[in-house]
Amino acid sequence: MKKIKGSCLCKKITFEIKNECRYSVFCHCQMCQASNAEFSSYTKVKKENLNFKSKKTLKWFVSSKHYKRGFCSICGSSLFFQKKSSDDYISISTGTLNKNIPSIGHIFYKYKKSKINFSKLKKFPQSAQGYFDKFIYRIK
Ligand SMILES: [Zn+2]
Repeated sequence: MKKIKGSCLCKKITFEIKNECRYSVFCHCQMCQASNAEFSSYTKVKKENLNFKSKKTLKWFVSSKHYKRGFCSICGSSLFFQKKSSDDYISISTGTLNKNIPSIGHIFYKYKKSKINFSKLKKFPQSAQGYFDKFIYRIK
């Protein structure tokens, strides 16, 4: 059976997804900006398709009236997003996964912070070895 594996940075939380998952969606909401980066990327799975191998360090933060966010209490990785009331689905940050999930769209796009045009930005296959350090952004 084909599976996708996932983990937090320190590997104290490890899990597998089987069968199917939703195409990934970029979220630009202000809570995702605070807990991830300028935007987050989540897929969504039925909980029956998610199998935890290890989750002792998984903690939940209630981030709004109806939702909570799961993170690793050791390394701080932001991994999950879930309705407080429902046990059927869980959203998973795609950066934690060992395979690429194709993207389908954006949500909370009105909060999009920067005018990122990925095709125009300089790309390095690995580390830029300090190349970008000379580009200082003056706060206005
Ligand atoms: Zn961790």
